[in-house]
Amino acid sequence: MTVVDKTNHHLFQPLLYQVATGILSEGAIAPATRDVLRRHRNVSVLMAEVTGFDLEARVVRCRQPDGRPLTLPYDSLVVAAGAGGSYFGHDEFAEWAPGMKTLDDAVRHRTRILGALEMAELEEDDDVRAAWLTFVIVGGGPTGVEIAGQIAELGRRAIGHSFTRFGPNDVRVILCDGGKEILATFGDRLSQHATQGLERTGVEIRTEAIVQNVDATGVEVRSADGSTTKIASRTVIWAAGVAASPLARMLADASGAQCDRAGRIAVQPDCSLPGHPEVFAIGDMMSLNGLPGVAEVAMQTGIHAARTISGRLKGQEAKPFKYRDLGSMATISRRRAIVSFRGIRLHGYLGWLAWLTVHITFMTGFKNRFAALVSWSFAFLGHSRPQQVIDEQRMPGRTPR
Ligand SMILES: Cc1cc2nc3c(=O)[nH]c(=O)nc-3n(C[C@H](O)[C@H](O)[C@H](O)COP(=O)(O)OP(=O)(O)OC[C@H]3O[C@@H](n4cnc5c(N)ncnc54)[C@H](O)[C@@H]3O)c2cc1C
Repeated sequence: MTVVDKTNHHLFQPLLYQVATGILSEGAIAPATRDVLRRHRNVSVLMAEVTGFDLEARVVRCRQPDGRPLTLPYDSLVVAAGAGGSYFGHDEFAEWAPGMKTLDDAVRHRTRILGALEMAELEEDDDVRAAWLTFVIVGGGPTGVEIAGQIAELGRRAIGHSFTRFGPNDVRVILCDGGKEILATFGDRLSQHATQGLERTGVEIRTEAIVQNVDATGVEVRSADGSTTKIASRTVIWAAGVAASPLARMLADASGAQCDRAGRIAVQPDCSLPGHPEVFAIGDMMSLNGLPGVAEVAMQTGIHAARTISGRLKGQEAKPFKYRDLGSMATISRRRAIVSFRGIRLHGYLGWLAWLTVHITFMTGFKNRFAALVSWSFAFLGHSRPQQVIDEQRMPGRTPR
């Protein structure tokens, strides 16, 4: 069995925002894939980027890190390349409002956030300093809410008092969402709890606020009444759209399957491709029965594809995939979260305890769980942020030397 990935690590995306805000180290949420699979002697792990498929010849085409091509033949193929960000046709926003999908994104955001505070400390002009101290998050889904809450905690509680030119209350975090409420998929009641929790932490929430433009100086937002305002900010984070990996479109073109608006490939009930029962597309890049792009769907479709392949070797028929919904959750701020699980709805401290239990359970490896618990004790029992390293090469405002 061969696992091919363009990175060398297995990433736990739900905790990316904690790397971006200095709570967890990169290693705590991204162990080496090779290490994770070390006990499986029949698995080889290759670091290469998949660039195409020949479904008739049954080969996967890849590019090695040094650019050389690599071709891998297969009997069964499972493609789980995930999803990236979408700027809804405005890719030019990406330069000023990077998304948060990869470990590299999270480390970059950590430098942008901490770097903005450093720049504010140096700045003599009040307006420019205010722009450095204003953080705009675009998108009020779980990712936007979690990062907004933690930037507010970081700036207004954890480290804001250690600067001399500004105080914790000068740090502004603005969360913009185009809809009527944030975390809309959780429903009214939890959405309201989330709104109140965030506002208590100091996050300003702007709903029905469509971001029309982003540049080096800030964002331009259109409100429900049609008026446009400019928010001066040097740090904008995009947490609004999702687009499936381009590999989904390649597989669709090769198999005749359809793609939906988010570029996800429509798969057969058993997650295979039409006319190619030996090829599976799973997780965030597939479209099946309106299932959401969440970790549970990815894990359960992975297990289903593996069981289908091993069942076939024993002569068994493929079965349709059945999803067991294990609910959803989002942290709001320090020791506050909301949870929706089969009619049970938790919020506040109770929600946070449920969040803690689930995340500790699903993190990969004992060492990472232990390291996360230690970091969380410092961050959530106190206000400390253990990971405050700024990557000098990416420091905002840095001129090349
Ligand atoms: C910030 C954030 C927070 C989230 N929070 C939650 C949450 O709280 N709860 C929840 O349930 N879900 C959450 N999700 C969603 C969840 O992480 C995804 O649903 C899940 O990771 C999808 O798994 P996947 O295997 O389909 O794709 P991914 O986990 O994205 O894995 C795709 C892999 O494919 C590799 N890859 C991509 N293209 C290529 C290529 N061409 N060649 C080789 N390798 C390639 C990538 O390097 C990556 O390792 C969150 C996602 C993000 C981004």
